[in-house]
Amino acid sequence: MQLLKDKIRKYGKVKEGNVLKVDSFLNHQMDVSLFREMGKEFKKRFAGEEINKILTIEASGIGIACLVAEELQVPVVFAKKTQTKNIAGDVYTSKVESYTHGRVYDIIVSKEFLGEGDKVLLIDDFLANGKALEGLCALVEASGAELVGAGIAIEKGFQVGGEILRSKGIHLESLAIVDGMDEKTGEIMFRE
Ligand code: 5GP
Repeated sequence: MQLLKDKIRKYGKVKEGNVLKVDSFLNHQMDVSLFREMGKEFKKRFAGEEINKILTIEASGIGIACLVAEELQVPVVFAKKTQTKNIAGDVYTSKVESYTHGRVYDIIVSKEFLGEGDKVLLIDDFLANGKALEGLCALVEASGAELVGAGIAIEKGFQVGGEILRSKGIHLESLAIVDGMDEKTGEIMFRE
């Protein structure tokens, strides 16, 4: 998606450890007009698929997911991150290893909001090693819902997540795929 690539080129900052900072428009300050265009683009890319729910993960996925949900006219559920050891109640849980924070946390979603009969599209801001999406896939599976696909704003194509998910046959759509970044020059290379 050209508009997103242009924003990344203009405002993205390459940090050490292969981290791309886009917090001036994507995951801290949020450019909602851009999110609206992203919502329309995801609608096109998943046209023909039956979707009745969007599942994302707090916090960075929520803003984008809301604009996709508005396009598709479906609700958004976000998985909550928790460090509570004893998770009680009617929830599905899964573990996620954080790429940016280097620790493992639990994610939970209430059984009330995900279950059999749901046709779920996953949305997130980044795809790196695929741990966040794998955690969300596990929640969908545990709930008996059907996974329709996953929509990602920025995929880091030089990390393994995209390959793993595509090899599982998951319909994955990334609006911008970054194939390389140069920490010294700040250059960001995109897949065409
Ligand atoms: P994964 O689980 O695929 O390894 O990483 C995805 C999660 O890590 C995303 O939800 C995102 O919050 C965070 N993340 C991974 N790589 C980056 C990055 O380069 N920049 C930022 N801002 N977040 C990232």
